[in-house]
Amino acid sequence: MLKKLAKRNRVITRSKTLAVAAKAAKLKKQGEDIVTLTVGEPDFPTPRNIKETAFQAIKDNFTRYTGAGGTDELKQAIVNKYKKDFDVDITLANVIVSNGAKHSIVNVVLSICDPGDEVLIPTPSWVSYPHIVRLAGARPRYIYSDETTNFKITAKMLRENITPQTKLLILCSPSNPSGSVYTKQELVWLAKVIEETGIFVIFDEIYEKLIYREWEHYSMIKIDKIRENVICINGVSKSYAMTGWRIGYAVANKKIINAAHKFQSHTTSNPNSIAQMAALEAISGDQSEIEKMRKVFEDRCSKGYKLINSIPHTKCFEPKGAFYFFVDFSYYLGKSFNGEVIETVSDLCDFFIDEIKVAVVTGEPFGSDKHVRFSFACSDKEFKRGVDRIKKGLKLLK
Ligand code: PMP
Ligand code: GLU
Repeated sequence: MLKKLAKRNRVITRSKTLAVAAKAAKLKKQGEDIVTLTVGEPDFPTPRNIKETAFQAIKDNFTRYTGAGGTDELKQAIVNKYKKDFDVDITLANVIVSNGAKHSIVNVVLSICDPGDEVLIPTPSWVSYPHIVRLAGARPRYIYSDETTNFKITAKMLRENITPQTKLLILCSPSNPSGSVYTKQELVWLAKVIEETGIFVIFDEIYEKLIYREWEHYSMIKIDKIRENVICINGVSKSYAMTGWRIGYAVANKKIINAAHKFQSHTTSNPNSIAQMAALEAISGDQSEIEKMRKVFEDRCSKGYKLINSIPHTKCFEPKGAFYFFVDFSYYLGKSFNGEVIETVSDLCDFFIDEIKVAVVTGEPFGSDKHVRFSFACSDKEFKRGVDRIKKGLKLLK
């Protein structure tokens, strides 16, 4: 006889982005020729200067516990970065370094939300936000947006969705999965509502360096009137091709950082000491590799956009940042393959991976029952191979 597991197991499911990437990796290992356009991670190696710093950290025996919220040196580098990039004055007490940005978000949501609180999540949104919210016992409340508002919410949409239970809003710019970017003016309008209602806002800017053409990143922390309400989430995974190193951070008012520190000190202790040294070099060292990678992504974005638009009967918003295409495939729903009806975009993605060997992510966990997410963090050749297969595959649907 065994007792039941905790109820909180039932309020969340495994990350779909990671699950489909794992399925593709398994099929590849079994010898299948899979084109993988799934998980959002740069295909570049981590820049050499960052890796050398990590080797040196091991040689120097920098292998012990550090402060639970990260080293003062790395926090100082983050303080300097926020001054240099956004011209805001923060101190070490406003920063916590965690095991990836995902971990920072967990600690912050646990610090802010009580059971019964509502958290506003504009969709389409990154898959993990609602799960993290439910883990804290709070309730996600979605604000649906689509191509008609460029996958962004307006101040009016925000105001209409705030209830007495609303505690927190989670915004992401540049956005995973749509690639939309909020302008300064749009954020100022949203900030007015935030100021009036006193809610907190997680501003996930992990893709800030991956921004294209004339678009510029504007950080919500620059808006003085809501400085205390804003929690910036950032990290080295995307901009510095360091997904496996697991370093992310939050910048927020001292009370929130203090609370997040308590959770971290009893759950994980410090993030990996060597990875922290590497992140210090990433953030404060030579930035030239980062710009080189950004340019490659920008080029892939424009080439990939043309290819995506060559898929018949689909619609795609042109990404302004990040490295995803979020493509409307609703035309194909209701069609069938070998007599089996493709009812949902998840069925369509199963057809793509099982029958034509292309792994992409269904829009459903991002909050859309029409879209499919393609990552363009891969070579042009691989991306074209994937799109060509999809075009051929769609012809098989009746
Ligand atoms: N936020 C967004 C929007 C993301 O796409 C990701 C992807 N991993 C994260 C946060 C978490 O990043 P990490 O934990 O790798 O730092
Ligand atoms: N954020 C990336 C993605 O959306 C990595 C996977 C994850 O953590 O969800 O693909």
